[in-house]
Amino acid sequence: MAISKRTFDVVVVGAGGSGMRAALAMSEAGLKVAVLSKVFPTRSHTVAAQGGIAASLGNIAEDSWHWHMYDTVKGSDYLGDQDAIEFMCRAAPEVVYELEHFGMPFDRLDNGKIYQRPFGGHMRDYGKNPVQRACAAADRTGHALLHTLYQQNVKANTNFFVEWMALDLIRDEDGDVLGVTAMEIETGEVMILHARATLFATGGAGRIFAASTNAYINTGDGLGMAARAGIPLEDMEFFQFHPTGVYGAGVLITEGVRGEGGYLVNKDGERFMQRYAPNAKDLASRDVVSRAMATEIKEGRGCGPKGDHVLLKLDHLGEDVIRHRLPGIREISLKFAHVDPAKAAIPVVPTAHYMMGGIPTNYHGQVVAPYKTGPEEVVQGFYAVGECACVSVHGANRLGCNSLLDLLVFGREAARQIIEDLARNPHPKPLPPDAAERPLARLARLDGQKEGESVAEVGDAMRQVMQTHCGVFRFPDLLAEGVKQIREVAARARNTVIKDKSRISTRHGSRH
Ligand SMILES: Cc1cc2nc3c(=O)[nH]c(=O)nc-3n(C[C@H](O)[C@H](O)[C@H](O)COP(=O)(O)OP(=O)(O)OC[C@H]3O[C@@H](n4cnc5c(N)ncnc54)[C@H](O)[C@@H]3O)c2cc1C
Repeated sequence: MAISKRTFDVVVVGAGGSGMRAALAMSEAGLKVAVLSKVFPTRSHTVAAQGGIAASLGNIAEDSWHWHMYDTVKGSDYLGDQDAIEFMCRAAPEVVYELEHFGMPFDRLDNGKIYQRPFGGHMRDYGKNPVQRACAAADRTGHALLHTLYQQNVKANTNFFVEWMALDLIRDEDGDVLGVTAMEIETGEVMILHARATLFATGGAGRIFAASTNAYINTGDGLGMAARAGIPLEDMEFFQFHPTGVYGAGVLITEGVRGEGGYLVNKDGERFMQRYAPNAKDLASRDVVSRAMATEIKEGRGCGPKGDHVLLKLDHLGEDVIRHRLPGIREISLKFAHVDPAKAAIPVVPTAHYMMGGIPTNYHGQVVAPYKTGPEEVVQGFYAVGECACVSVHGANRLGCNSLLDLLVFGREAARQIIEDLARNPHPKPLPPDAAERPLARLARLDGQKEGESVAEVGDAMRQVMQTHCGVFRFPDLLAEGVKQIREVAARARNTVIKDKSRISTRHGSRH
C-alpha cells in the first residue's frame, strides 16, 4: 500500500497546554511545526482544568518559590526529582506573566494584579499555613489558557492536523526517533510524518479507570506508542485520585471550592478532615484527603442510603461567591448532582484524576532511556512534555495547580532544547524501510477479522478491573488478582473485531 509522507522540522503529537506552549515557541523561532490532535485543539483535556496555575507571585500574601518547592517536594512524598522541582518552581512566576502577556484573561484583584486562591498542599513558611498561590480565571482556568495558546499558535503559523490520530513512533535501527505514522480519522488515510524532532504531548490515561474525571480522549496513546517502540515507562503505579468527583458521574469539583472555604462532612455532619490533618484540614494534599474519605466510607460514616460517599458543603459561602468565583461548579453541580450548591451539599467520592508516571524525561523534555548504555541516555529525536511525561516533578502525588504549571514550564523548556538540538542537526535521517509496517499490519488484521469480541466490551472489562483492583487503597492480594484479570483482558484484546466501521470511536464502551 502506497503511503503519503510529509516532512516537518518538528512533529508535536497533542494540542493540550503542553503541546501548544512548545509549538508556539518553536513556530516563533521559525521552525516548521506540525501539531496533531485527535480532537479540535481547544477540546483537549487542558480545557477542563478549573482551579488554577501555581506560582509564587505573592499578590495577596507573601510567598516565595522556596516555599512552593518545599510543598512540591513534600507533596510528592519525597519521590519527585528535586532538581526538576526547583527548576519548575523558580520559573513559575515568569511563565505566568508570559501567559498574561499572551492575553490570558486572568481574574483580577482590585489593584489590577492576578487573582490567586489557596489550594491543597500549597503553604507558606515551609508548610505552616495555607497561602494564596493558584492564579485563576474563575473556575475555568484551563479554558482560558488553552484558547489563549491556540490563538497565539494561529498567529505564529503552526500547522494543525485536526482529528489526526498518531498510531506509532518511527524508530530506526540506532533507536533514533524519526517521526510518527498517523491516520486521518475522517477518511482512514494513513500518513508518515517525518521529522527531525518528535514531541509527545498526548496527555494522561485517566480513562483506563471506570470512574474518572478525565475526558474520553485521555486513553494514554502516547504511552502505548512509546512502550511499543521499546521505551520503558516510569512510575506508572502512581495514579492520583481526586477527592471530589461528583458521586455517580465522576465529573470534577475543583479543590478551588475548598480553597474558597468549602469543606467535607460525613453522615454525622462532622468535618472529619480535622481529625486526619489538623493543620491543613480540607486543604491537605489530595492523597491524604482521598484516603480519609475512603476510610470514613469504609468505617460506616459515609452518606446516602448505601453509605458510599461524603458531602461537600459550600452553601455557607453565599450565592454571590458561588456565582462569581465558582460559576462552572454551580453548573456541574446542578447538571450532574441535581443540587444547587448555594442550598445543599454536593455528594462526592474520590475519582481517578491524574497520572504522575509516564515517558521518562529529564527537565529539558528529552526522553531518557535508562536501559540503554549509560545510566541516563537520551533517545535522539524524541521529547515528551505534559501529563504523558514523567519529569518527575510530581513524584508519587501531584499538588493541585502544579500540572498547568508543568505544561508551561516544560513545554517552553522542551521547545528551547529542540531549537538548540536542531541547530546542530540540519538534516533529517532517512526513514527506515519498515517505517509504517506496524500500524499497517494492525489495520490489516482489523480489516481481515470477521468474528471476535467488541472493542468496547473488552475496554469496559479493563476499566472495571482497574477500578476494583487499583483504587485508592491497594493491598497485595487485591493487586495480584487484578494482574491476573488484566492478563485475561489483554488476551481478549487480541481477538477483537470492529463490525461497524462507520463509527469513529469504539473506546467509549456500551454504556454511552
Ligand atoms: C477535570 C480536570 C481538571 C483539572 N484541573 C487542573 C487545575 O486546575 N490545575 C492544574 O494544574 N491541573 C489541572 N488538571 C490537570 C491538567 O489539566 C492536565 O494534567 C493537563 O491539562 C494535561 O495537559 P497536556 O498538555 O499534557 O494534555 P491534554 O490537554 O490532555 O491534551 C492531550 C492532547 O493529545 C492529543 N492526543 C492524544 N493522543 C493522541 C493521538 N494518538 N494522536 C493525536 N493526538 C493525540 C489530544 O487530542 C490532545 O490534544 C485537571 C485535569 C482534569 C481532568
